[in-house]
Amino acid sequence: MNIHEYQGKQLLKRYGVAVPHGYVAFTEDQAVEAAEKIQTDIKVVKAQIHAGGRGKAGGVKIARSNEEVRAYADELLGKVLVTHQTGPAGKEVKRLLIEEGSDIDKEYYLGIVLDRSSSRVTVIASSEGGMEIEQVAEETPDKIYRESVDPLVGLAPFQARRIAFSIGIPKKLVNKAVKFMLGLYQVFVEKDCSIAEINPLVVTKSGDVLALDAKLNFDDNGLYRNKDILDFRDLDEEDEKEIEASKYGLNYIALEGNIGCMVNGAGLAMATMDIIKSFHGEPANFLDVGGGASKEKVEAAFRLIMSDQHVKGILVNIFGGIMKCDVIAEGIVAATEKIGLTVPLVVRLEGTNVDLGKEILRRSGLNITPAQTMADAAEKIVSLVDQAAGGVAK
Ligand code: GDP
Ligand code: MN
Repeated sequence: MNIHEYQGKQLLKRYGVAVPHGYVAFTEDQAVEAAEKIQTDIKVVKAQIHAGGRGKAGGVKIARSNEEVRAYADELLGKVLVTHQTGPAGKEVKRLLIEEGSDIDKEYYLGIVLDRSSSRVTVIASSEGGMEIEQVAEETPDKIYRESVDPLVGLAPFQARRIAFSIGIPKKLVNKAVKFMLGLYQVFVEKDCSIAEINPLVVTKSGDVLALDAKLNFDDNGLYRNKDILDFRDLDEEDEKEIEASKYGLNYIALEGNIGCMVNGAGLAMATMDIIKSFHGEPANFLDVGGGASKEKVEAAFRLIMSDQHVKGILVNIFGGIMKCDVIAEGIVAATEKIGLTVPLVVRLEGTNVDLGKEILRRSGLNITPAQTMADAAEKIVSLVDQAAGGVAK
C-alpha cells in the first residue's frame, strides 16, 4: 500500500526523523490558513498524489507570500498532473501539502529496501540527491553506497555513520544524519515497509538534516497489525476494480489486454497468462480467486471481470483441489444470471467434483465453450475473441 508524502512525514516525525513543518490542505482556504501558521517567509505548495516526479511536472511550487500560496493552491487543486510515474492519464490533485521553505545547502538520496538476493534489508545512499536513483545507478554507479543490515542487530550506529561519511554529509552534521537513518530504519521494520525512500534528504544552511520528500510503501500482508497505516489509505488513488476485489479477498490486478481470466492459485494464474500470450492473446487481468473460494466470491470475481469494458472474452481455468469445480460453476451461473453473458466464455475445469461442475454449466443453458487442456483453452478463447473482432488474425 502506498501513502501520501504528508502522511509519510507525519509518521517519520513520530520516529524522530526531522521533517519540515507543514499541513495538509484540501481547499484554497485551508492552504492559506496553513500558510498563516508557518513562520518562514517562503512556503512550499506540494501536490499530493501517489506518484513521484512532481517537481519536474510542476507539482512543487515555491510561494513568497500567502497570496501566492492561494494562487498556487488554486492552480494545483483539481489539476491532472502527468509525471513520468503516473502514466499518460495522469492523476488529479485533490490534496496539497503546505510546508515551510527549507534553505537547501545540498540534496542527498537515502532509501531502504529489501534486497531479495541477500535476503536482507539494505540501505542505499548517494550524494546525488533530487534525481532518479535509477539514473544515478546507470550513469555514475560509483556514487551509490550500500549497507546491508543484519536482521538480528538492526542498522548499527557505526553503519549509519559510515553511510553519512561515504556520501559526504558535513562532519558536524553526521550525528544528526545518524539519528535520521536509525529513525527511518525503525519505521521500516516496525511498520512493515517494502520501501522507504527519502529523495531528497537535505542539509540546510542553518545546519538541519531534513526529509524534504518521503515515499513510503507498505507490505499489504502486514497491514492487519498496522491499523494506523491502514487509516492513511486513500481510495481515490487506487484502481476501482482492485478496491472491489480487495473487499472479497481476491487477488486482482488490472492489465492492458482483452481476455479476462479467472483462475485459482497465483502460479496457475501466471501460467494461464503466459499460455494466452503464447497464442498471441493479451490477458485483461491477473485474478486468483484463492483456495477455498465461496460461490459469492466466485460470483464477485466474475462480475469484476465483466465490469471491465476492455474484456472481449473470458477464460476460466480451474484446478479443483481445495477449491471445488461445482462451486466455481455455481458462481459463474449466479453471476451471469444477474448480468448476462455478452462475450465468449471458455471454461476448463479439472479436479474435485469436475463432473458435477460441468453438469451445472451444461444445465445452465449458457453459451460456454468447454476445453480439455490449458493450451486447448487458450487457443479457443484467443480465436473466439478474434472472430468476434471481425476475424482479424493477429
Ligand atoms: P518529487 O519531484 O515528486 O520527487 O518531489 P520532491 O518532494 O522531491 O520535490 C522536488 C524538488 O523540489 C526537490 O528536489 C527540491 O529541489 C524542491 N523542493 C521541495 N521542497 C523544497 C523546499 O522546501 N525548498 C526548496 N528550495 N526547494 C524545495
Ligand atoms: Mn522526490
